[in-house]
Amino acid sequence: MSSLHEAANRQFQRAADLIDLNPEYRKILSEPENEVIVNFPVRMDSGDLRLFRGYRIQHNNVLGPYKGGLRFHPDVDLDEVKALAAWMTFKCSLVGLPYGGAKGGVTINPMDFSERELERLVRRFTHQLGDTIGPEIDIPAPDVGTNAQMMDWIMDTYANVSGPGGRQQLRGVVTGKSVEVGGSLGREAATGQGVLYALRHWCGETGQRLSGLQVSIQGFGNVGSHFARLADREGCVIVAVADHTATLHNPDGMDIPKLFDYAREERMIKGFPGAIEVNTEDLFAFPVDAFIPAALENQITAERAETMSCRVIVEAANGPTTFDAEEILNAKGVDIIPDVLANAGGVVVSYFEWLQNQSGRAWRIDDVDTRLREIIWDANDKVVNMKAELNCTHRDAAYAVSLHRLADVYDRRGIFP
Ligand code: GLU
Repeated sequence: MSSLHEAANRQFQRAADLIDLNPEYRKILSEPENEVIVNFPVRMDSGDLRLFRGYRIQHNNVLGPYKGGLRFHPDVDLDEVKALAAWMTFKCSLVGLPYGGAKGGVTINPMDFSERELERLVRRFTHQLGDTIGPEIDIPAPDVGTNAQMMDWIMDTYANVSGPGGRQQLRGVVTGKSVEVGGSLGREAATGQGVLYALRHWCGETGQRLSGLQVSIQGFGNVGSHFARLADREGCVIVAVADHTATLHNPDGMDIPKLFDYAREERMIKGFPGAIEVNTEDLFAFPVDAFIPAALENQITAERAETMSCRVIVEAANGPTTFDAEEILNAKGVDIIPDVLANAGGVVVSYFEWLQNQSGRAWRIDDVDTRLREIIWDANDKVVNMKAELNCTHRDAAYAVSLHRLADVYDRRGIFP
């Protein structure tokens, strides 16, 4: 498999060419600023001691503190985290947040560990990161394989080893926490909600109704499941859903509230009554209006792109479409709403959480929803305008908006010293 970081760089370079980005900024943005790798020991329930490798890659902080999730997955490696960190810089810039980009992770399958082992692992990893993270330095959040409970442990560990002052603001060291310990209402569903806004915006752009749209979804984790629930409520017909255990199909549309509850209960979609199980590859070929990749990167390969017959792909996952697949899909006239725009809802509500931690005031859910919609809608408007101006794809337009902002800030700040 080729390098994900190189693939991410190719996307960035193509847009940089398009807007004739200052070559010095191009040089800076093509590599992360800091690459932190820690090896740390954790005691297993059996009494054995195991050594784990964790990463925190800080891509750029010209716009504000580094920001981005922590991933626990067996495929986590330096190359992947570097790519994911760069995408966070472009995402935060695109939606106008005062944040830079970062990403981290540990190479494990969290399912292989007990709750106690995970707690020790998260706390020790947090401790080992030391001053690498902080509410004004670098703010982690959930990603694939991590959740609110783990964010709570990070916050608690950080607060316990910090001095007694500023305990309230210290909670902003991490976002995606449980509401009870300083998380924001609406954070869990935010990424899925943002994906739905992006799809709705595309409907407006292309003159069609959201209601009645036929949709396939790859991935039924936090992002895919909330997107499905919200899209179903808006009248979308979800005909296929896949996770790592099964691919389900029902041409009449699935009972999403039931599937949502089933998946929460069973922690998988396999065995859900009310749909038939089909082959993994079938998912890509069902004729639908919208295909939503909400799993991992590199899922839409050139081979799969050939078989696809949708009109739009809304990238809920980070980096789901390979460079070659994208060329095939562009030639077929399939619109791709890129990850940095489509899945930005999560980090936007992370920002709201951080603001709430700083001010000590909790926002009501309708305030979160209204502000999220405004920010995501505005970013989608900007991308569509830029697309018309440059006569390019949504992805290139999104990068162009993002790079213009970064370049503008570099122009004003200059490069130290
Ligand atoms: N992991 C999410 C992402 O890729 C959220 C990051 C955050 O909230 O900081 O955008």
